[in-house]
Amino acid sequence: MPQTNKSRNAPVPETSGSVQVQDPGAEEYVGDSEIIKSPSDPKQYRYIVLDNGLRCLLISDNRGLASSGDEDLEEEEEEEEEEEDEESDDETGEESEEDDEDPGSEDDERGIKKKGSTEKQSAAALCVGVGSFSDPTDLPGLAHFLEHMVFMGSEKYPSENGFDAFLKKHGGSDNASTDCERTIFQFDIQRKNFKEALDRWAQFFICPLMIRDAIDREVEAVDSEYQLAKPSDSHRKEMLFGSLAKPGHPMGKFCWGNAQTLKQEPKKNKINVYERLRAFWKKYYSAHYMTLAVQSKGWGNPFLFIVDSKGAHDGLPKPDFSDMLNPYDTPAFYKLYRVVPVRKDHSLNITWALPPQEKYYRVKPLHYISWLIGHEGTGSILSVLRKKCWALALFGGNSETGFDQNSTYSIFSISITLTDEGFQNFYQVTHLVFQYLKLLQTLGPQKRIYEEIQRIEANEFHYQEQIDPIEYVEDVCENMQLFPKEDFLTGDQLMFQFSPEVIGAILSLLTPDKANLMLFSPEHEGHCPLREKWFGTQYNVEDIQQEWMKQWTDGIELSQDLHLPEENKFISTDFSLKPPESPESEFPVKIAHSDRGCNWYKKDNKFKIPKAYIRFHMISPVIQQSAKNLVLFDLMVNILAHNLAEPAYEAEVAQLDYKLVASEHGLVIRVKGFNHKLPLLFYLIIDHLAGFSATPGVFSMFTEQLKKTYFNILIKPEKLGKDVRLLILEHSRWSMVEKYQALTAGLTVDDLMEFSQRFRAELYAEGLVQGNISKLPAKVPVLFRVVELPPKHHICKVKSLNKGDANSEVTVYYQVHGRARCSNNNLCMFQQVCFSSIQSQISLPCQSSRADVLFQMHMEEPCFDFLRTKETLG
Ligand SMILES: [Zn+2]
Repeated sequence: MPQTNKSRNAPVPETSGSVQVQDPGAEEYVGDSEIIKSPSDPKQYRYIVLDNGLRCLLISDNRGLASSGDEDLEEEEEEEEEEEDEESDDETGEESEEDDEDPGSEDDERGIKKKGSTEKQSAAALCVGVGSFSDPTDLPGLAHFLEHMVFMGSEKYPSENGFDAFLKKHGGSDNASTDCERTIFQFDIQRKNFKEALDRWAQFFICPLMIRDAIDREVEAVDSEYQLAKPSDSHRKEMLFGSLAKPGHPMGKFCWGNAQTLKQEPKKNKINVYERLRAFWKKYYSAHYMTLAVQSKGWGNPFLFIVDSKGAHDGLPKPDFSDMLNPYDTPAFYKLYRVVPVRKDHSLNITWALPPQEKYYRVKPLHYISWLIGHEGTGSILSVLRKKCWALALFGGNSETGFDQNSTYSIFSISITLTDEGFQNFYQVTHLVFQYLKLLQTLGPQKRIYEEIQRIEANEFHYQEQIDPIEYVEDVCENMQLFPKEDFLTGDQLMFQFSPEVIGAILSLLTPDKANLMLFSPEHEGHCPLREKWFGTQYNVEDIQQEWMKQWTDGIELSQDLHLPEENKFISTDFSLKPPESPESEFPVKIAHSDRGCNWYKKDNKFKIPKAYIRFHMISPVIQQSAKNLVLFDLMVNILAHNLAEPAYEAEVAQLDYKLVASEHGLVIRVKGFNHKLPLLFYLIIDHLAGFSATPGVFSMFTEQLKKTYFNILIKPEKLGKDVRLLILEHSRWSMVEKYQALTAGLTVDDLMEFSQRFRAELYAEGLVQGNISKLPAKVPVLFRVVELPPKHHICKVKSLNKGDANSEVTVYYQVHGRARCSNNNLCMFQQVCFSSIQSQISLPCQSSRADVLFQMHMEEPCFDFLRTKETLG
């Protein structure tokens, strides 16, 4: 095995604050035994603190080296799955969380999702223990702005876009985010270029240029992020919630920043933004509260990273907000807020502001409570609401972002997506939630349930899969700010200790009189005279009705339908590995095949973990026969998911994943997880498909919901654009507008039942079973083709349907002759490269040939540089 040249790994001598760290020898050193890691984690860890106070976790990842020796020649692992799912989601309108698409306040779009192997990537992430809470009051958004500005070249590498160009050239990516009390920077790159990349990256923290010229341009980039975030309901909700904090509390700050706060106002008030940026950097980017996680092979590289400890960094205490407790202990909080959302959905949020809970990470009381609140099995809040056709989804808990949990408070929030009828009865819905909380308070914390959650989390941790290095170091460097050394890798995941006292104390705070209610509905339009300052959200505030409050506080009566969950039968107990097949096959083999379907099988011989993966594609020509059928198919899949929600919930929480996707030509059923109980789940789904049924109540609930889903797709320029583009390219495609019309023309339960019978009668099923599983017991009748466009420029302009959305979307579609790739199946697809210039995102569909990937790589950085840095379009 070629050894890295050790001399090049030595610390950089000219910088103060550096330390000489002996390389303990990559071969013998087995890592720091005090850091608790998963038994299935092949990586080794080493914790060091540099002289300047910088805490570093070095993660040595030698996977894949034993076999090939040459790091450049390792095989590639494709990561197509998620993208493919996203594609499918788009098609059906089964879009689950908008948050997926709107990276948060705090997220930049500088990193473009990379493709390729994870094993041969190296990555580093730095967490600075300071964030938007430290914004000066006269410059809202300064911390976020600085996060952008540090990347505009360094003294050693002055080129403004040099780092991004370097990363792109070597298969890397980077990103950064600003949270309330932390700012995180991360990047990854091929191993062989890691050292140079690390040096370039480190220079941003040692001597960033932050040149004056870049300020105006980069303000526009920050402003574009703000503009992009504006139409997002989740961001609007956050800002509105922030505005309810006591005056002067940092929760009320405008953390995004925009052209107004960072350019126009400062100009008016004669504030020198350049000086203030430098001052902020000097004061707060201090090594002694930075944490660094570096993952690569061996131990050498990280010592290139040294942060200067002179000047402002002489040990000033970290900004501390822990004396600003109870941000929401104000009459404005205990009210009902009616809000007009962007999306046509009704939802109810019930929120409590609790004392900070971070210190109870070993007990995780909020996790325990949200487990029960968000439960979907019989006896749960959602189960009862679904039976009444009042709610579609319910989430509860704390997301552990800086906004949800910081040193001043912790949120506990229950968010319920309501049907029209649920919206009309929102007080009843609230009433049910309070009954369930009363039940939990009366019964007290339950050891049996706690231990069940504990077991599930422990199984997950024990058999964890290796995640992308860049995501891993990002998580770890943040954990290093929160937990002691031994819990760096476990602190955010494991439930260490059942404490009825800690859980009971929190439960007792979740009372009706301390709750905040926010009700979102398009029906509030025209009745909301108030406007949130930054995002312009329309809202109104009123007292919670006295008669309800009285009911809740004077001995609330409990519904008989509510009870704690039964014992979970899907939790795996058998983790043994099946004996290897003989003879072993390298690729999946077809083990069954007829004119109605075929089945592929592959026993895992590589990963050797007790997990399996089953995927079936149920293809039917009936689906594409008309727009009406497509709509009925969407309805069928949504209702099937609804019918399964309760019986399959226990499986889901036991980490058996399942997903139903209404793809263009068929239903995709995917299940994965611990193999022991996985077949139980798969047969459960098949049984529900075979015996599919829908009550009129459920049917009308889902038709109403689907109307909103389609509408929400139509108002998003990028989705509308995609729909129109595919309409041009595909034969006999039905547009979203046609589907919307078919849906609003009126459908009946009988239509649906007839469709579901025809769907099952004309079905071709293709499946793949692989993993730690023993062997289980025609031509695909659908052609996927796209149109070949006449070879010249075509422009198709589509007027955006959402007048309030200032964003535009440009998709440039290049037709590349891809016939070489159509040889072995019926798939004939021309390659497409699309990028939305305004949002500086470039994406490729999952089937990309090498040439297309090269094409994309060459375009990406110049596009980014031009659009984002020079034109500052987002
Ligand atoms: Zn940003």
